[in-house]
Amino acid sequence: MESALCSHCQRNQAFYRRQYEGVSLCKGCFKASVEKKVRRTIGNWKMFAPDDHIAVAVSGGKDSVTMLMILARLSTRFPRTKITAVTVDEGIAGYREEAVELASNYCRELGVRHEVISFKEIYGHGLDDFLREKRGRLTACAYCGVFRRKAINLAARKVGATKIATAHNLDDMLQTYMLNLLEGAVDRFVRFSPVLQDPRGRFLTRVKPLCEIPEREVALYGFSEGLRFQSASCPYMTEALRNELRSIFNRLEIAHPGVLFSSYKAMLKLRDLAKSGVPPSALESCQSCGEPTSSKICEACRMVGVTSERLEVTV
Ligand code: SF4
Ligand code: ZN
Ligand code: ZN
Repeated sequence: MESALCSHCQRNQAFYRRQYEGVSLCKGCFKASVEKKVRRTIGNWKMFAPDDHIAVAVSGGKDSVTMLMILARLSTRFPRTKITAVTVDEGIAGYREEAVELASNYCRELGVRHEVISFKEIYGHGLDDFLREKRGRLTACAYCGVFRRKAINLAARKVGATKIATAHNLDDMLQTYMLNLLEGAVDRFVRFSPVLQDPRGRFLTRVKPLCEIPEREVALYGFSEGLRFQSASCPYMTEALRNELRSIFNRLEIAHPGVLFSSYKAMLKLRDLAKSGVPPSALESCQSCGEPTSSKICEACRMVGVTSERLEVTV
């Protein structure tokens, strides 16, 4: 909290010091500046067309609930734009119930249609049951991420959406670029972007409208709106390397304000420079479920035991 006046309006008391710009902002100017940044990101990356139907992936966490609120607000200027919130119930006992309820309540308040889809209805079992029976050696998050991606695609298509919006913030973007580099996954590094589009237009475009908003500002926006977020943590949370990167970048940003944004911009430039050395991913339809994949069978189908040999026998 600041006792100084807001650097923008010079009228109200400042409530947040944005170190990386050297300004202090009152609540109103802070929220307006976040919304303006999101609008600019959407415009710069041409994320939406005026008549898009946007499926907003809402987990019930702070980022996704805040994104839903911002997009719902921005969409009031575009009468032909439609928004539907999509929530995936992974089937994690004691964790997901609260988030689904929170998401439903906010959708009701905002007057946004809410579609809930569960792992159980798609894959025949929730994540808890799957992990009890699985034979694989991947982490829970690796399975969950792949299953959820497909679930969001299915839900978005079911509601007739033309785009999918996910709530990756600036910190998430930077962590993902760094993780891909640290894991030596140069192809994934190059393909990760604020806009993921199938050049042949067969699969829904995924966009990240909060990609330039630091995590703490997303949380502060939600907090200043009085939003309530999920309190329980996922019992499977294991992403050790990502968590280490998060705390390293947090420390760096405190010591050197602006470093998050400048390194994110550098990642985008490096990605552009490296593009010509990495062939574009030739996305095909999975032979089992029709979802996008770079091989015959998508990862989600492979994880539940579908193989191309088995398909050939059953077809
Ligand atoms: Fe899924 Fe991992 Fe997130 Fe839990 S922490 S919801 S297992 S991705
Ligand atoms: Zn102000
Ligand atoms: Zn598949």
